Amino acid sequence: MDIETIREQFPILHQEVNGAPLVYLDNGATSQKPKAVIEAMERYYKEYNSNIHRGVHTLGTLATDAYEGAREKVRRFINAGSTEEVIFTRGTTTALNTVAYSYGRANLKEGDEVVITPMEHHANLIPWQQACKATGATLKYIPLQSDGTIDLDDVRKTVTPRTKIVAMAHASNVLGTINPVKEVAKIAHENGAVMVVDGAQSAPHMKIDVRDLDCDFYAFSSHKMAGPTGIGVLYGKKALLENMEPFETGGEMIDFVDLYDSTWKELPWKFEAGTMPIAEAVGLASAIDFLTEVGLENIHVHETELARYALELLSDIDGIEIYGPMENRVGIVTFNLKGVHAHDLSTILDTMGIAVRAGHHCCQPLMRWLGVSATARASFYLYNTKAEVEKLADGIRKAKEYFGDVL
Ligand SMILES: *Cc1c(COP(=O)(O)O)cnc(C)c1O
Repeated sequence: MDIETIREQFPILHQEVNGAPLVYLDNGATSQKPKAVIEAMERYYKEYNSNIHRGVHTLGTLATDAYEGAREKVRRFINAGSTEEVIFTRGTTTALNTVAYSYGRANLKEGDEVVITPMEHHANLIPWQQACKATGATLKYIPLQSDGTIDLDDVRKTVTPRTKIVAMAHASNVLGTINPVKEVAKIAHENGAVMVVDGAQSAPHMKIDVRDLDCDFYAFSSHKMAGPTGIGVLYGKKALLENMEPFETGGEMIDFVDLYDSTWKELPWKFEAGTMPIAEAVGLASAIDFLTEVGLENIHVHETELARYALELLSDIDGIEIYGPMENRVGIVTFNLKGVHAHDLSTILDTMGIAVRAGHHCCQPLMRWLGVSATARASFYLYNTKAEVEKLADGIRKAKEYFGDVL
């Protein structure tokens, strides 16, 4: 993997922020986009912008082919069995809400259980809280180990024949933990439950094979994987999707509409109401080409190396606390500097051109478990370098001196 060649593909990286070269380490929130993605979307708008599935005119056909072509690219990217199992959504959040509403609320009742973990992003937590409240089902948590991992023995104790749904992040956006979702899916299935995987932090960073994971649903967002905002994917097993009612209704998702009743299109269109994000699908397809060419295995190895290097350099800084496991993790490093609020740390780093996230990262229950109100987080992607990790460590040292002086 030639990082310099890769970096050349990302126009936004070549700028100064606050007088210093930009060091973009907020990829967990959203990634940057390569030229190919930006240009593919520009081409769509300049050359064949049109609505899909309706017109029989030439541009409409070109747009429809591009949109459905993007679906086939996604299918191959995650190794789904069929494009009927690939639904375009607004993003991970909408994909998970679709499962919670269309599958959860329809299949849960009093006495049933939904099992999640305390490390879930709010997008994989609140839809389940709401589904449980609406149906009388009980929300249960697999406990976290002190290093921010889960233990399969705890999964076996928590998941019971009363469990109908197990929902879990494949990779934590705070701790970097990679969860053993394949093994958890097996336990869920042994108990008659379905397995929902939040793939927002895994699909961009490692090779995904939904059939190998044997999960029932898998959700991810384009904007964290070099693609545009406004589009994401819900993968679902066909047999489950076929028995689900649509989450949204309206134009495009119907077959026959009468005054008092209607029928739906077949999969996957049953779940795609209204005008879909067409340019974004074109952009996502281009992002998938880009990532596939670099190779997801290469990306994963590179980011794991960056994370290992960051853990090594940051551990050396006096007064730093680093959260999450030291092994088997993605390229996310979350930390706090003793006596300094994460927001202040992030603000000082920004004056040096270093962009890191500070806050609760949409994981308030996890912050409480860590015993903090906020953390700083550096998250890496394929274009980040070891030199940038060194700049981060230097920046934190400088911030420490600065706060040492003012404290
Ligand atoms: C970002 C993220 C989400 C939400 O993704 P959206 O694109 O905002 O819908 C869900 N889960 C995890 C783990 C995330 O990192």
